[in-house]
Amino acid sequence: MNLVLFGPPGAGKGTQAKILQTERGLPQLSTGDMLRAAIAAGTPLGRQVEDILAKGDLVSDEIVINIIAERYDQPDCKNGAVFDGFPRTIAQAQALDTMLGARARKIDHVIELKVDDKILLDRVEQRIKQGIARPDDNPETLKNRLEVYYKNTAPLLDFYNKQGKVVTLDGMAPIADVTDAIAKVLGA
Ligand code: ADP
Repeated sequence: MNLVLFGPPGAGKGTQAKILQTERGLPQLSTGDMLRAAIAAGTPLGRQVEDILAKGDLVSDEIVINIIAERYDQPDCKNGAVFDGFPRTIAQAQALDTMLGARARKIDHVIELKVDDKILLDRVEQRIKQGIARPDDNPETLKNRLEVYYKNTAPLLDFYNKQGKVVTLDGMAPIADVTDAIAKVLGA
């Protein structure tokens, strides 16, 4: 099974992806985590994208498509994966369909976690207070990340709606309730 977790920054995609990974053995493929790992390791890729992440802009489609393709061909993805933070543009979604199609696979569900902007800002402020904030977790960068989300990423909902794949869930519900709602979508 291949799932896309969809929603604005701070919607809880990473939290649910980790639960799916633990409970169903579907690896969490987070482009954000992969890019941050490259930055932390000081690789050429990391140096190339560091400023872009700090600003909350999107790195190029080519970069993220390549890192996803490489990751997806690892043996642990043999039963599928949970895509978290990818795709973020129509070009990425098309590339993902092509990549999966070439492997006789497809996206089974796109799970949209819907959360009001005001709550997203509160969540980031919480992360800052708790000292678990990332460098791009500040109100200014979050504003840009939200703008980028609505401009580049939200239109993907139309793309996936045309494929009849979108299920919208309340991302403001408690974590366990969101997990249960996802389980219902997956039929277990
Ligand atoms: P968020 O919590 O904002 O959804 P992520 O951890 O998914 O954050 O991504 C952090 C940053 O990494 C983004 O703001 C962007 O700069 C970059 N990034 C992650 N995934 C992608 C992608 N699919 N396409 C382009 N840039 C990406």
